[in-house]
Amino acid sequence: MMSAPGVCAPVLDQVHSEALAAMVGEGGLILDPADRAAYETPARYAGGVAAAVVRPATTEQVSAVVAYCVRHGLKFVPQGANSGLAEGSTPDMSGGHVVLSLDRLIAPLEIDIADRTATVGAGVRLSALNAALEPHGLFLPIDLGADPSLGGMAATNTGGARFLRYGDMRRHVLGLEVVLADAAGTVLQLSHGLRKDNAAIALRQLFVGGCGAFGIITKVTVEIHHRPRQSAAALLVPRDAEAVLPLLQAFEAEAGSTLTAFEGMSKAAMSRAIDHVPSLSNPFAGGIPDYAVLVELTRSWAPREGEASLDEVIQQIAGEVLEHDDSPLVDALFGPTEKMWALRHGLSEGLRASGPVVGFDLSFRRRDLARFRREAIAMLDVGFPDFALCDFGHVADGGVHFNLVRTGAADPVRYQALREAVLTLAVKGFGASFSGEHGLGRAFQDAYDRFTPRLVQDYSAAVAAVFGAGSAAVRLGPPRGN
Ligand SMILES: Cc1cc2nc3c(=O)[nH]c(=O)nc-3n(C[C@H](O)[C@H](O)[C@H](O)COP(=O)(O)OP(=O)(O)OC[C@H]3O[C@@H](n4cnc5c(N)ncnc54)[C@H](O)[C@@H]3O)c2cc1C
Repeated sequence: MMSAPGVCAPVLDQVHSEALAAMVGEGGLILDPADRAAYETPARYAGGVAAAVVRPATTEQVSAVVAYCVRHGLKFVPQGANSGLAEGSTPDMSGGHVVLSLDRLIAPLEIDIADRTATVGAGVRLSALNAALEPHGLFLPIDLGADPSLGGMAATNTGGARFLRYGDMRRHVLGLEVVLADAAGTVLQLSHGLRKDNAAIALRQLFVGGCGAFGIITKVTVEIHHRPRQSAAALLVPRDAEAVLPLLQAFEAEAGSTLTAFEGMSKAAMSRAIDHVPSLSNPFAGGIPDYAVLVELTRSWAPREGEASLDEVIQQIAGEVLEHDDSPLVDALFGPTEKMWALRHGLSEGLRASGPVVGFDLSFRRRDLARFRREAIAMLDVGFPDFALCDFGHVADGGVHFNLVRTGAADPVRYQALREAVLTLAVKGFGASFSGEHGLGRAFQDAYDRFTPRLVQDYSAAVAAVFGAGSAAVRLGPPRGN
């Protein structure tokens, strides 16, 4: 049916168009290039061209569309809110992929307060779920700078800034409904919101983080939590990058389960945010430090009589750490929680506004973070001075958004050399993961082919084959032709 690289007109032929429109209604099929654009353009990277965008509104419609596509050899890419950063939710330039958008799957949105769970259609946005939960004092605590769909969050296993306290989607998904990419569009119900269920193997976990390779998620049941009723935050200035881990250990020991976030920010990332985000100003009286950490403590209960407030607790812990000989801490700023978070939340926008970003979503054992950073800076200084390192990240879980802003002219060869150098140092040198929390997609297919052990690739491809043809957006097998 479709090929014609680079074309902008729809390449889905009339027979397929009419068949798909009959399944999803006229409003559910988008062929017009202007209307397709939002579905073709990812949050990062260049985007591609879709043969069409199909927007089923029910599980039955998803099943019918998928079965039709599989039977007629039409490739498709599942898409949620299209906020992914691995280029997995958009078509390539061939014009040969149908975008299967789940954005009309916004029912149900059911909250079970007694069970502390919510069951939602895959297209429900995180903000919509949290708005519905707020009057009940509840929330889904996965916190990030985008507004993804619950289906996309399950498919990518979203982490976020409060992973340290609450974990990722994997820890929250208690049930899934999925449509397999087979010729029947088989619908599988995988658990029903049970916290404990050992009656079968936890098949649903294959779909969490599977990035659509095993099937299409149409409904998600998640565990939800009580919203914090007390919080306190501080910006900590560590002695140097090596001091971040001892500082974290001190807070983990003293703050226990109230420790909710511990986010690292480099000077270059903070400077760009302060320069480019109009609502931000420099909170540091003595100039922006080389590195800072945003630390947050929360409690789900209201202040109790006689109990120290979290503001007092955070100041006390910081004060005690400061008094140590050879303290890992040199300064600490305290203030309202939202004010302390503002700088952290402005980092991505600041980087984007300051130039083209080369993003790496790396994950390390925590003890390796400082040494990797030191070695990577030395390597970049010598080989890539035209890229400014603006790293930040969820350091408590070993995550680092090792992002670089290009300061020189665009050069695809140098760009590839940079990716190769950073990924080789991280993965081969430190046993890091090239995808800490952003999942898999075209942007990292080369890294998957290169760094994921061949046996793991083979078994993953075999499992995908059991579930059907796969969505083809993420290839889990070894490179074709090998
Ligand atoms: C500013 C910004 C900050 C971010 N911060 C974080 C962060 O801190 N932590 C983090 O983990 N991520 C972060 N992300 C990445 C992104 O928001 C997450 O990966 C998110 O979970 C993607 O959800 P989505 O609905 O947008 O999915 P999409 O982008 O639409 O899709 C992502 C992948 O999932 C697949 N997919 C989507 N929906 C389904 C479905 N229903 N069934 C099967 N497959 C599906 C797609 O095919 C694709 O492979 C950030 C993104 C931005 C732009």
